[in-house]
Amino acid sequence: MTKVRFAPSPTGRLHVGNVRTALFNYLFARKAGGTFVLRIDDTDLERSTSEYEDGIREDLTWLGLQWDETFKQSERFDRYAAAAETLKAMGLLYPCYETGEELERKRRLQMANGRPPVYDRAALSLSETDKAQLEAEGHKPHWRFKLSGQPISWEDMVRGSVTIDTTSLSDPILIREDGSYLYTLPSVVDDIEAGITHIIRGEDHTTNSGAQIEIFEALGSKAPMFGHQALLVGADGGKLSKRLGSLSMGDLRDTQGLEPMAVNSLLAKLGTSDAIDAFEALDGLLDGFDLSKLSRAPARFDEDDLKRLNAKLVHGMAYTQVQPRLAAMGADAGEAFWLAVQPNLERLSDAKTWAGLVSGPVTPLIEDAEYAAQALTFLPEGELTAESWGAWTARIKAETGRKGRGLFMPLRQMLTGESHGPDMAALLPLIGRSTVEARLKGETA
Ligand code: GLU
Repeated sequence: MTKVRFAPSPTGRLHVGNVRTALFNYLFARKAGGTFVLRIDDTDLERSTSEYEDGIREDLTWLGLQWDETFKQSERFDRYAAAAETLKAMGLLYPCYETGEELERKRRLQMANGRPPVYDRAALSLSETDKAQLEAEGHKPHWRFKLSGQPISWEDMVRGSVTIDTTSLSDPILIREDGSYLYTLPSVVDDIEAGITHIIRGEDHTTNSGAQIEIFEALGSKAPMFGHQALLVGADGGKLSKRLGSLSMGDLRDTQGLEPMAVNSLLAKLGTSDAIDAFEALDGLLDGFDLSKLSRAPARFDEDDLKRLNAKLVHGMAYTQVQPRLAAMGADAGEAFWLAVQPNLERLSDAKTWAGLVSGPVTPLIEDAEYAAQALTFLPEGELTAESWGAWTARIKAETGRKGRGLFMPLRQMLTGESHGPDMAALLPLIGRSTVEARLKGETA
């Protein structure tokens, strides 16, 4: 039974990079008919907040990435302590008393001698008496996991065959001096106890995986399968800019008014050779989803793609589908209105601007008062309909000899106050006769 987890730390909002990881886990679980777990990695009690935790749940819900199970690491400290005791008893978790400065000094010395800055395991040669004395002097240990010194290999679902040479790594610190846990051990304990079968996460964790595989084994468990996807870079191939890297779902949703499926559609395909297209629902992404399609090179994230996909989604929305959202933003002016403005929208929220331009008040943009007066006299009689615009402009053309831009642009400006926008033939009846007349007279209406 496939079981995967997305494990964010509630120390910030979700951004495009970690949403991609969440999406991969979600799609992987759905495709396999398995379970998608949301694990909140809140062992850092100082930096984790319940607001961020709520924000993460809100963002995933907005994206439609519904989890099947969830739990928090802060509720499981007793389990981590038990695992630590097991490792200590096996001699695989050992106390170290060096201070940060001492470790830094050792590192600098090693580098100066052209050696890799790997922890020298000096603490392993401390006798019981040494340790007792250090403790008596008030020193508190941090605890390191003793790596095997063997190469660790696995078949990565994204990267193929990977080998980490543990001799080039420092024994990782699992428990800090103050007794708090770094991410490494709790994650393994949880993955074992939750029965996680596949760990899908960013390439920045590849080295951790080497150490974690040894911890899985030390705790008597077989390591799950791993898939480490390459990270995202900016559109120019450089580092994802600070702004984009921290682009949160809150920004995308509230400030930019983007559709969640624009985000999902882009993130699911980036880094593969599949065409990037707008999918209306997550189900549509399942078919083509396969971690082995991901390139090992970083994927380029381009905000323009997001905008393009978003516009495409909006252009495909039926009135009945958007009506409640239009109503909520005070922009529900009926189906004819929706059909008129829809092709011009990059985001749904832009409908609000056009609803305002139809209902008014609008200050007309009149550069040629004479033309405005003429246009008014040629306006077809009676109620304005879908045919009125054609008849009106044909008449103006015949009577004044105006044509092209000189004919159409001023009319648009006089009636909407804007130089661009939806099809005027559709807008005219929506604006309605009395408002059209008033605007042609230069009145704000
Ligand atoms: N909390 C870790 C992170 O956000 C989880 C990594 C993992 O998936 O194991 O980087």
